[in-house]
Amino acid sequence: MPDPEFTLLGDALWLDFVNTGEGRTPDSHDRLPDLAAYHRWAKAQKLTSDADIIPFGKLAGLRTTLAGLADVLATGRQAPASAVEVINEFLAQSAGYFQLIRVQGKWHVQFTPGHSTSATDAIVLSAARTLADIRKKVHRCAGDGCSLFFIDDSASQSRRWCSIEVCGARNRVERRRGLQ
Ligand SMILES: [Zn+2]
Repeated sequence: MPDPEFTLLGDALWLDFVNTGEGRTPDSHDRLPDLAAYHRWAKAQKLTSDADIIPFGKLAGLRTTLAGLADVLATGRQAPASAVEVINEFLAQSAGYFQLIRVQGKWHVQFTPGHSTSATDAIVLSAARTLADIRKKVHRCAGDGCSLFFIDDSASQSRRWCSIEVCGARNRVERRRGLQ
């Protein structure tokens, strides 16, 4: 099977974004070296690409901030105020309005985006939702040399691998070899 350009675990969009700078081996190269790669990544995620409007420096800065946040959360520490500030800055730019809508006989106040949600909007919103949900724990894969982040929302909090088929299987093989 050919190596796909991007590893998309699908747990949380923002971690897939952060994982473009991580990898399953220590020598993994950066999957988002330029805006063209970001455009392809957004398309692979079926998002509205904003590669033509966001400066690359801003995008790279966002990934650095979110990677730092993932690292902090994976080690059980509190989200740094600086990361929350960056998330809130991006959220403040996502224009929209509130509307009162009736669903199944009940009124709800719903936020409606003023423009179609761009890939960057979606990434930042995904990070905000992870932070706001105590059941969602960020972990780093326990696989040897693997630095990918994933979400563990299992009741037992026992997920250890980015992929049971890749890093989980590799670990089982290595353990068996160790026993021989
Ligand atoms: Zn892994």
